[in-house]
Amino acid sequence: MKADDLEALLAFVESKQKTVDCPRCHTNHWSVTGPVHALVAGDDGGRIDFAAGAYGALPLAAIICTTCGYTEFVSLVVAGVEKRPQATRPIRRRGTR
Ligand SMILES: [Zn+2]
Repeated sequence: MKADDLEALLAFVESKQKTVDCPRCHTNHWSVTGPVHALVAGDDGGRIDFAAGAYGALPLAAIICTTCGYTEFVSLVVAGVEKRPQATRPIRRRGTR
């Protein structure tokens, strides 16, 4: 990940998070991965197409608690770091505002 993208990612994460403590160990020691990770997305039928390219993967950065290893992922598309469009379907989860 380029330095500018990493700075944009960190600014995004810091602007959105309500707490900086790790939900598992309650410390505040984090690192962020430079390389982009990707989860492969299945189609509506649950089939995975490994040749689908950018539209078949979710580009993510991992934010890792360096004390206990708790790891969370941030979508690079939502953070504005990854500019390629991504097929998504909005949902509203129960129990959320
Ligand atoms: Zn932790």
